[in-house]
Amino acid sequence: MAPKPLAPLVFLITACQPPAIEPWHEARQACELAEGEHPVDTVIDGRPALDLSPECSLHLGELLGVDRESFEAAPLSLEALLHGAHLLVAADFGEVGQLLASPHASTWARQHLARQAERGGLSDRAPASALLLAHVRSELREIRFVPDLEQYAAAYDRGRMVLGEVQSHEDQPPLWMASVLMHEASHGVGPEHGACRDRPDEACDADLDGVYGAQAWMIEAWRQGLQPGQAHAEEACAGSVSDLTVICSMVNNPGDDLLCDPLARWRVCDTLGQR
Ligand SMILES: [Zn+2]
Repeated sequence: MAPKPLAPLVFLITACQPPAIEPWHEARQACELAEGEHPVDTVIDGRPALDLSPECSLHLGELLGVDRESFEAAPLSLEALLHGAHLLVAADFGEVGQLLASPHASTWARQHLARQAERGGLSDRAPASALLLAHVRSELREIRFVPDLEQYAAAYDRGRMVLGEVQSHEDQPPLWMASVLMHEASHGVGPEHGACRDRPDEACDADLDGVYGAQAWMIEAWRQGLQPGQAHAEEACAGSVSDLTVICSMVNNPGDDLLCDPLARWRVCDTLGQR
């Protein structure tokens, strides 16, 4: 019997991707963030300062491909992760142009995010937060909890982020979790870690041109969005110094970048307490 002719198929091939601003707007809407509102999330008594509504949590989880079932036995890990995702969409990271022009950006990260901005139709004046979210979403298709991973550890596994158990919010505050999302997503494009100079069993970067550098770049962009006199700005800035200290300890040669100079960082935070 002669084979039946195949029904004609029409392929619509589009060269452009959906605008990257839309998922960002939708997430902000789901989390009821008013235009221009950038609450500073910090950790008070071990609990995140901001409560996320069920709609907001659900939306952020779906947006980032969070496998909720895997987190059933680890509600604190899920909560910490979602607070990090919330900070990513809620905080003021400046504009796309400022982020890409930052002296703290490594060449590969700058080029990759510039291409992403172009593909997503984000202009230089668009919020950098939308670009960071687009980056995380394009490199991580799923985030799941893995019980046998070391506590507080996160890792990148072929387009997936895996997260270990979180036992206290104080140890995994929202800014840190947001920067972990940036770190793991950047594994999709950045150089691999090598051995730490003094700890051969641990994974470090040779300099700030690696994935830890991309994480530090994001934290600094966030710190620049803090305004003097803003609620929690000084404590939140202090939290960013602790985060940068951890990151810089994972870089063999941070060079003379001020991001890895705690005294310079403290001086910056001091100015935020002034009204
Ligand atoms: Zn890593």
